[in-house]
Amino acid sequence: MEKLNNPIYVTQPAMPPLDEFVDLMKQIWDNRILSNNGPFHKRFEQELADYLGVNYISLFANGTLALMTALQALRITGEVITTPYSFVATTHSLWWNNIKPVFADIEPKYLNLDPEKVEAAITPQTTAIMPVHVYGNPADVERLQQIADTYGLKLIYDAAHAFGVKIKDNSILNYGDLSVLSFHATKVFNTIEGGAIVCHDEKTKQRIDYLKNFGFAGETTVIAPGINAKMNEVQAAYGLLQLKYIDGNIAKRKSIAELYRQQLMNVPGIRCINDMQGVNHTYPYFPIFVDTKAYGKSRDELYEELKKHNIFGRRYFYPLISQFPSYRGLNSSKPENLPIATGITEEVICLPIYPELSMDLILSIIDNIKI
Ligand SMILES: *Cc1c(COP(=O)(O)O)cnc(C)c1O
Repeated sequence: MEKLNNPIYVTQPAMPPLDEFVDLMKQIWDNRILSNNGPFHKRFEQELADYLGVNYISLFANGTLALMTALQALRITGEVITTPYSFVATTHSLWWNNIKPVFADIEPKYLNLDPEKVEAAITPQTTAIMPVHVYGNPADVERLQQIADTYGLKLIYDAAHAFGVKIKDNSILNYGDLSVLSFHATKVFNTIEGGAIVCHDEKTKQRIDYLKNFGFAGETTVIAPGINAKMNEVQAAYGLLQLKYIDGNIAKRKSIAELYRQQLMNVPGIRCINDMQGVNHTYPYFPIFVDTKAYGKSRDELYEELKKHNIFGRRYFYPLISQFPSYRGLNSSKPENLPIATGITEEVICLPIYPELSMDLILSIIDNIKI
């Protein structure tokens, strides 16, 4: 295969039309309000809640601060059961709150936390479960809620991959106690950097909004040691603009995913994840799994080969979070405790998927995998 002229990365942010963005910036210049729940922040919060189909949402400067604040909002302490198969920020948010992460294994089909492994990992110190909707495929929300109810645990979802995902017309964000979104430039929906917490009652939203603004509940009242995690007006205006184009962008992602799946279905040693029944997907990533024996090359060999042709896949998620120095000493990090995740992390590579990716480029990526 020919080397592509320009490097193709796994993602490229969708950008709104510049002239429309400039118009909104002019309004910010006129308003002279740059942060602290300004007019764009208010409008974006409302329009985003409507778009997502949720009742209460709080905007954040980024997803990691939103995760950290979510744990503070529910006063989580002790141990939290989570997945090793995610982006490091999921576990880091626990560490920053002085909470001990306890890793449980994933199930092999959709690579989400295995509820039975979660239940087996519960101790008297456990206070919450933090699952991730990996690649936007919903975790087993019904079973996880049952376990949380039985043992009196909180359920906080890292929903960074689950923007706009619905189960039978109900937002996935309506499950659990809290759900946390990321609007980083690499995600399906971005506000350059950004994030949000979805909750289900006004009191909780109020507490979250206090916590993200130093704990201020009034001019001279500070109710808790909060942090500064506020989304600013430029991010909010950019987000409002992005909302206008999000459905078209998701449709393009869908057609890319369909083409990949159709073309790679019969390649020996390459496996894709099938869409989950009854779920509206938004295709945040396109992972494939390499069976070295059947494919004739390992995942890393394919990764290097693609790189030579200017195609930059990403090994999401590799290594497992449990293998990083800060966490690998934990009992629950032992590979014997995490056999499925330990196998999958050696097989996965995510292929480029973003709205601007042309069909021609996708076909050359596929050709490079087929050889
Ligand atoms: C992107 C991501 C985050 C972090 O979000 P930021 O907005 O970059 O801080 C957390 N968890 C998962 C699963 C992610 O993919």
